[in-house]
Amino acid sequence: MTNFIIEHQCPQCGAPAELEESDRLFHCAFCRVGSYLTVPDFFRYTMPHKAPAGKRLIYYPYWRFKGMLFSCLKTSIENRFLDVSHQALNSVHFPINIGFRGQTQKLRFAAAEQQGTFLKPEVALEDVLNLWREQYSAKLPKPILHQDFIGETWSLIYAPFYLDGKVVDAVLDQPVSDAAIEHLEEGLLQPDTRQWPLTFLATLCPQCGWDLNGDRDSLALCCNNCHTVWWEKGGKLKPLKAAHVPINGEDWVYLPFWRIQADVSHIQLETYADLIKTANLPKVVQPGWDQRPFYFWNPAFKVRPQTYLTVAGNVTLNQPTDHLEAGRPKGRVHGVNLPLKEAVESLKLSLASFLRPIERRAEVIPRIEIQPRRFLLIYIPFQETHHELVQPKLNLAVSKSMLAHAKNL
Ligand SMILES: [Zn+2]
Ligand SMILES: [Zn+2]
Repeated sequence: MTNFIIEHQCPQCGAPAELEESDRLFHCAFCRVGSYLTVPDFFRYTMPHKAPAGKRLIYYPYWRFKGMLFSCLKTSIENRFLDVSHQALNSVHFPINIGFRGQTQKLRFAAAEQQGTFLKPEVALEDVLNLWREQYSAKLPKPILHQDFIGETWSLIYAPFYLDGKVVDAVLDQPVSDAAIEHLEEGLLQPDTRQWPLTFLATLCPQCGWDLNGDRDSLALCCNNCHTVWWEKGGKLKPLKAAHVPINGEDWVYLPFWRIQADVSHIQLETYADLIKTANLPKVVQPGWDQRPFYFWNPAFKVRPQTYLTVAGNVTLNQPTDHLEAGRPKGRVHGVNLPLKEAVESLKLSLASFLRPIERRAEVIPRIEIQPRRFLLIYIPFQETHHELVQPKLNLAVSKSMLAHAKNL
């Protein structure tokens, strides 16, 4: 598993700092000022080079992707974790991927002032994803009813090269191959516009001015003073609708969940009574259950692919109805590091995992459409034991070491 290190400077005081790839919240060790990193589309990095002075550098673009690929089959849901890179511009003269070079190098954010030609990517990330999807699906039994990439981080990495009768890899200062090159593909060396804004937002509560808190990879920032929760939208901090199940005691840790209400086509799944039929739960429908709205519950935190659907299925089938209080809880909270968008994408897989009888899956899943309507971020308390976080009412345990490792996913 790769987690790149990125070197940069504190936007306030200029002190050198190192970030991990998944870091969003940055606290400067020198000036103590916090900032939240954001870009309008995706992060772009460069690798350092060892090219001799005077060489004209070419920065070649590679898509970099880390995430889970889920494949829904007739009676099982397969998953695999991908940590891959691929050319974002087709050429036979440059390496097809960045290989292991990124793991041994510290990256920097790509910036307009860097010397060299940054080549314009021509291959869409979608196309590269489809390539990987086909590659990993070759060995799976058919039919594949549905597939999705979930929980991904992706970025564009520019690797430096220069031309010297050969294509020379400037990271190692070694030729890519011994073959001399007459000429590169026509039109390959198109420079990009290099307009890559990188914004550091001050992490002060927009409502009360207090410092906002969160884990380094957190997508939601909490105010401990006015108990509001914030997230970045369009380059600004905006309120995030959040609630929690209140509890007293020191040994509780809150895990965040996306509770999503959605329109599901082809099957009736609007109420708790509908869920009992859809999942064939061993329960007799009680009066009023046909009035209780049905919600999908998905983890808002990263876990291993095997665990992700298990946790989502557990909470969704339990449909918690605890009394909720608005805002963040007072106790310890685990950061939100799985975006809402990813949770929404996984709803179909979640439904496939509890749809019964399982024979219905082949007929229903390929046709079904799930349209999210509204959501709420809900913090559920888990009791901390030596190795696990346990939610007694849900009969659900999450391993603490797995949660810690999942941060690199
Ligand atoms: Zn600083
Ligand atoms: Zn506040």
